[in-house]
Amino acid sequence: MITLTLANVMMIPLVLFLTWLWFEDAHDIIESYSWRKKCFALIALSLAAGSVLLITNASTLAHCRKRAAKLKDEALFGQEHESLFGECPICMLPLPSDRSQFRTKICCMKWICSGCILAATERGMNNICAFCRQPTPRSNAAILVLIQKGVDAGNANAMFFLGEYYFDGQYGLQRDEARAMGLLREAANLGSVKAHYQLGLVYAHGERGLRTNMVNAEYHWEIAAKAGHPSARFNLGVVEARKRNYDRALKHFIIAAKMGEASSLKGIQALYKDGRATKDDYFRALVEYQQAVQEAKSNQREKFKALIRA
Ligand SMILES: [Zn+2]
Ligand SMILES: [Zn+2]
Repeated sequence: MITLTLANVMMIPLVLFLTWLWFEDAHDIIESYSWRKKCFALIALSLAAGSVLLITNASTLAHCRKRAAKLKDEALFGQEHESLFGECPICMLPLPSDRSQFRTKICCMKWICSGCILAATERGMNNICAFCRQPTPRSNAAILVLIQKGVDAGNANAMFFLGEYYFDGQYGLQRDEARAMGLLREAANLGSVKAHYQLGLVYAHGERGLRTNMVNAEYHWEIAAKAGHPSARFNLGVVEARKRNYDRALKHFIIAAKMGEASSLKGIQALYKDGRATKDDYFRALVEYQQAVQEAKSNQREKFKALIRA
């Protein structure tokens, strides 16, 4: 935009000169002036026209920025917000927001709910994936072979998992932060929402050799939140509340609570206590949160929870 503005200003004397040549009358009048007056008139006209163009361009720039912010907000808040996790592909019930209640099967990269995993175990299918029926790898070597196969095939989620394995030194791998970050970034570039969420955490906390950078953290969480990641949405709410943008914080918390994200409900409660949200905001969010939690319940899932608690 600045380049455009300078180019416009530089064109002004040329345009004025051509105009001067074009209009015979103006030419005759100006011919009668001394060369000092001509120069003065040309400079004055150039400055005046330049100022008009600068103001116009500054106003256009401000308008563009406003429009870009509006479009960004429309994408962030103005659509239907379904949870990224969707439904368990076996029982077809919505997966809960609580990440401990389902697992990723690395054979098919599907999220299987705890209830279906328990049901498969009860049927003696301990060593077979309940969804794709592939044998479940047991040894470190077999797990790494399977995940590497996914990475070689360009699977973004496989890259994310291998990155996490390198970071934690899992399955016998030597801890390698640089390699872990490379895989995480590649996974994010290929569209892994989990990788975007994780990158947001890494930037927010200044981990893995990176400095804290909240601009980058927000960038990655916004991508994850738009894709329906409940925790990314909650984190954006916290970021906005810290910036005292309470309206935006409330919007994020309401969306996340609707997906069954428990911390967001507490966030709305805190905003309500501070007079930043209405009673109606809180109760509507509570009803939608309870609805999401209820829809994600099944006898088998409750049985799994009871077993874990025992
Ligand atoms: Zn299930
Ligand atoms: Zn599978």
